[in-house]
Amino acid sequence: MPVSDDDIERLQRCVELARSALDAGDEPFGSILVDASGTTRYEDRNRVAGGDATQHPEFAIARWAAAHLDPDERARATVYTSGEHCPMCAAAHAWVGLGRIVYATSSEQFSRWRAEWGVPPPPVATLPINTVAPNVVVDGPVPALAEQVKALYEAKFGS
Ligand SMILES: [Zn+2]
Repeated sequence: MPVSDDDIERLQRCVELARSALDAGDEPFGSILVDASGTTRYEDRNRVAGGDATQHPEFAIARWAAAHLDPDERARATVYTSGEHCPMCAAAHAWVGLGRIVYATSSEQFSRWRAEWGVPPPPVATLPINTVAPNVVVDGPVPALAEQVKALYEAKFGS
């Protein structure tokens, strides 16, 4: 599915959330859940600074959706995120039956940038969402947002 102007606007909100995470000492990732009518139902940002490395916004969205949306609503919802889901979050997304994912930057880009900055790889393998969740419709990356997201990553991981 092509990435629309509405999609890009929603990804911009994810980047804002990522920036607020960075400002709070967390890692710069932000995500929102939009229902079939186009209403943003839930949004969150990374919250790992407290020591729980599973506090990813995409995981929070999956849990929120399981508690608040019926299976049909979940299937028709779209999750937007500043950085492609990690395998944990891709699995959670698929387990609760959420719909399309649109991401601004890919895990592959994040890995490449980390390598440029000499940052060791994360403890979990970097896999495309569809390797973990083969039936999810996934769109991204969005080149127009790459520099913004890369700058946030560089501020957190690059020094
Ligand atoms: Zn994750």
